[in-house]
Amino acid sequence: MNKVVKKLCKMGIALMLMLALVIGCIPTSVREVEAATSISGVSKISNLPDDFIRGVDISAVTALENSGVTYEYLDGTSGDIFDILAGAGVNYVRIRIWNNPYDSSSPYKGYGGGNCDLYNAKVLGKRATDAGMKVFIDFHYSDFWCDPAKQYAPKEWANYSLAYKKDAIYNFTYNSLTELLNYGVNVQMVQIGNETNGAMCGVGGLFDDVWDFSTGVAELMQQGCYAIDDINSTYGLDILKVLHFTSLVANGEWYAEQIDKMGVDYDVYAASFYPMWDGTVSDMTTVLTNIAKTYNKKVMVAETAYPYTFNDADGSGNSVGDSSAMRYSNYDVSVSGQAESLYDVFKGIAAVNNSVSGYGLGAFYWEPAWVGTDSSAWGTYGTGWASSASGNYELLYNSTVEHFSTTDQGSSWDNMTLFDNNGTAMNSLYVFNDICGNSSVTSSGSSSDSDDLEGTYYIKSYYSGMYLDVANGSSANNANIQQWSYNGCDAQKFKLVANSDGTYSIYTGASGYSKVVDVAGKSTADGANILQYTYSGATNQKFYIEQVSSGVYAIKTAITSGNSCLDVYNWSTEAGGNIAQWTYWGGACQLWYLEKTN
Ligand code: CA
Repeated sequence: MNKVVKKLCKMGIALMLMLALVIGCIPTSVREVEAATSISGVSKISNLPDDFIRGVDISAVTALENSGVTYEYLDGTSGDIFDILAGAGVNYVRIRIWNNPYDSSSPYKGYGGGNCDLYNAKVLGKRATDAGMKVFIDFHYSDFWCDPAKQYAPKEWANYSLAYKKDAIYNFTYNSLTELLNYGVNVQMVQIGNETNGAMCGVGGLFDDVWDFSTGVAELMQQGCYAIDDINSTYGLDILKVLHFTSLVANGEWYAEQIDKMGVDYDVYAASFYPMWDGTVSDMTTVLTNIAKTYNKKVMVAETAYPYTFNDADGSGNSVGDSSAMRYSNYDVSVSGQAESLYDVFKGIAAVNNSVSGYGLGAFYWEPAWVGTDSSAWGTYGTGWASSASGNYELLYNSTVEHFSTTDQGSSWDNMTLFDNNGTAMNSLYVFNDICGNSSVTSSGSSSDSDDLEGTYYIKSYYSGMYLDVANGSSANNANIQQWSYNGCDAQKFKLVANSDGTYSIYTGASGYSKVVDVAGKSTADGANILQYTYSGATNQKFYIEQVSSGVYAIKTAITSGNSCLDVYNWSTEAGGNIAQWTYWGGACQLWYLEKTN
C-alpha cells in the first residue's frame, strides 16, 4: 500500500474517531497488544531486530522420522515437527551436508548421525521453507563429522592434491547450492567447513601442525566463498558466507585474526558456544563484539545446547552424562535451566548490537529433536551418532578407529533436546517465541471442533497483533479489508453467521451488517484480494472457521474448499497491511484471535 493511501486511511480513522465521539461509539481505550504469557519461564528481550535469528539445527530429523519417531506439541497432540517448531517461534533452520556418508561397498550402510547427504538437505530444506523459515546450509567437506579433532576429506577426494581439492570444493559447493535453490529451498546463509579450528578437508594443523590456515585451509575456504559469490550473481541472491570455529572464548579472536591475515573474503564469523563447555555468556559477548568491531564481520552462534537431565534415554552414552562432563555449571540441569541458558545466549548475541548495531545475528540450538531410538534403528536408519560403517571411513586415514565407531551407536544427545523422549515439546522449546513476547501454538487443535461461533467479534491477527478492518470504515462494495491498530469502531466489528453447510458468512460492521467479507472475483488463487461486498450467498462469501489452538483460529475460504485462508499479506506488521487469500500452511500470519465485542 502506498503512502498516500495509507495517509488517507489514517485520515479516515481520525474522522471516524471524531464521528464516534459524536454518535457514541466511544472506543473504550486503545488496548495495548498484550505480551504473551511466557511458557518457558524466560522474559522478553527488548529491542530484538525483527529478523533476529532464532534457529535450530534439525539435520537428523529425517532419519529419526524414518525410524518411526513422531513429534508432539506441548499438550501432547501430534503434529509435523516443522509446524511445531514454527509455532514455537523458530524462524531459521541449519542443515549439515556430508558429501557421501555411506560405506563404499554393498550394502552401502550409512555412517549414522542422520546420514546427512545433499538429498536430506533438499527434503528438510524444502519443509523448512514451506513452514516459512530461512535455511542455513553447513558444508563439512567430509563424509562424516568434522570438529577440531577430525577433518577428514571425503573418500572420493582422498588422494587429491590441494589444487584438486580447491576445484572440488568450489564445484561441490556450487552444484549443491544449485540443486537446493532449484528445489525451492530458501537458502540465506552457507557455512564453509565445520568447526575448522586450523584444519579442513584433510589439510592444515591436524595434518601438518600448522594452525594459522596458511598451508592450504584459507585457499580452500576462499574457494567455497567464490562458489557462493557466483551463486549469488547467477540467482540474484545475497547468501551470506559463514566461517565456523569453536573454542570461542579461548581462541576465537586469534582465529579471526589469522583468517583476516590470509584475506579470506567472508561475511559472518560463527561460533559453537555451549555454556557447559565454553564459558560465560558475558565472555562470549565480549569476544564476538571484538571480532565484529575489529574485522567488520557479522557474528552469531551456530551451535548451542544445554542438558535438561543427566538421564540417558537409549542406553548409548551421552556427551554430557554427568557433571564431570561440564566445565561450567551456570544453570540447573533441568528444563528451566536449559531455557535459561538458551535465553542467555540469545541475550548475549543481542548485546553485540549495543556496541556494533546490526552485527549480532542470532543463534541456532543444535539438534533439539535428536531423541533416543531403539538400538535396532541406530544402524538401520542412522539415528545414532555413528554406525559400525563409520569406522571403515576412519580407517582410510587412520590405523585405528579413534573418533568414529566399529559398532552401531545411539544418540549421544538425548538429554540435550528440547523435546522429551516421547517426542513431546518441553516448555524450553518455547524460548524462541518467549524472547520476542510472542504467543506460541502449543496444540494441533485437531482434537477439538470449533464451538458454535455465531456472534460479533473483533478479529485480531495472531502474527501482527493488528485487527481485521474495513478500510476507511467504508460501507461501499469493493471496500478493502486490511489490518489496522485496534480502535474499537464498527470498521473492526464482524458478525459470524453460520450456514447449514458448516461454513460461516462474515458480515461487516462497516456496512451495518448488510455486506460481507468476499474473495474478489471468486478467485481461488494465492494473493486474491479480500474485500467487502453485498451478500449474495455465493461460495466466495463463505468461510470455514477452524480452531487451531485455544482461542486461535484459521479462517479458510470455501471457494478453495478450505485449502486457502485469510492471510496477512507479505507478513506485514503495519497498519494498512493487506489481507489476501493464501494457501493455508498454518503460519502465524494465517491465524486469528476472535474477541467478542461485548
Ligand atoms: Ca543416549
